[in-house]
Amino acid sequence: MFIPERVFFEREALIYPLGEEIYRRFAAKTGEKIELKIIEKHNRAGRFPGDTPRERFFAAKRTLVVGVRRSLKMAGCRPSADYQLPLSTGCPGSCRYCYLHTTLGKTPSLRLYVNLDEILQAAREHLERRLPQETTFEGSATSDPLALEYLSGALARSITFFAAEEKAYFRFATKQTDVTPLLNLPHGGRTRIRFSLNIPAVERNYERGVPPVRERIEAALLLRQKGYPVGFLLAPIFSFPGWEKEYGNLLGVLHQRWQKAAAALSFPPVEGPDPSFELITHRFTVRAKKNIMELFPETTLPLDEEDGRRFKFGQFGYGKYLYEKSFFKRVEEVLIPHILQLFVDGGVDYLV
Ligand code: SF4
Repeated sequence: MFIPERVFFEREALIYPLGEEIYRRFAAKTGEKIELKIIEKHNRAGRFPGDTPRERFFAAKRTLVVGVRRSLKMAGCRPSADYQLPLSTGCPGSCRYCYLHTTLGKTPSLRLYVNLDEILQAAREHLERRLPQETTFEGSATSDPLALEYLSGALARSITFFAAEEKAYFRFATKQTDVTPLLNLPHGGRTRIRFSLNIPAVERNYERGVPPVRERIEAALLLRQKGYPVGFLLAPIFSFPGWEKEYGNLLGVLHQRWQKAAAALSFPPVEGPDPSFELITHRFTVRAKKNIMELFPETTLPLDEEDGRRFKFGQFGYGKYLYEKSFFKRVEEVLIPHILQLFVDGGVDYLV
């Protein structure tokens, strides 16, 4: 469970019942030396303690900002969904390859938003504008939202909200495993929960502060048993000699657990691929590389622009170094048939 060392409250957030409740909760923890502070704007948390960028980075990772989400115009979220649903920002983990190195920079504090009613009302307006088309919202575009669920209840609120919407779907991805608060919600099969997995070498070398892959698989199976559509992200996929075998082994382990659980627990039917897969090859931005090298100069993360990479502009106005097209082709030829062969009811949403 993520327990912050300091919690900053935007003054306006205290007007909302959720903001007040979280304030009371932390104020009552007097013995735990949690620093509480009122700030004027949630995006101006001030300087984080520490003598080096790395110390300040980890201080920010242990800082929670409780704020009000002002911009309710929802950004696009291709290829996973139509729109982002901004429930929170940041993640207590510190995976070396994390996309937040680009979007949140060197002091990625966590933020949760207390105006959930307004955020969900904005989602309703966005989906109504697209009727009669269906609309999908992504709850993890800028965060791992499950990490803050015990404080905000934002996922539970969103899951029950979308359960009642005929033309909308909700989805989020996570590496967290405390799914207990979600298990007995009336989800209507309209929320798909996906878990990010990787091979042992990547987990060992580049993932930090997150539950192990095997526990993520178990959390997915618990949710699947409760009738949630679930999915898996193979992310990021790295190119190295023998990658085909390593990712194949991961799929084999997953398939074994899936089969066993399906036989023992008799999974209720779900709509759509069962499970879904998203394949995301490793990529990095100039900004991410600069931040990672400054924070973790010892990392062996492959960040050489000249080593099998190509540059491509993305939907958010900055470019990324992707692997060469030939690697994408190999992933398509090797992993997709493998997945479809193992998981006969499964499906691959996309490969990027
Ligand atoms: Fe980033 Fe995801 Fe790791 Fe959190 S779990 S640090 S969001 S890659």
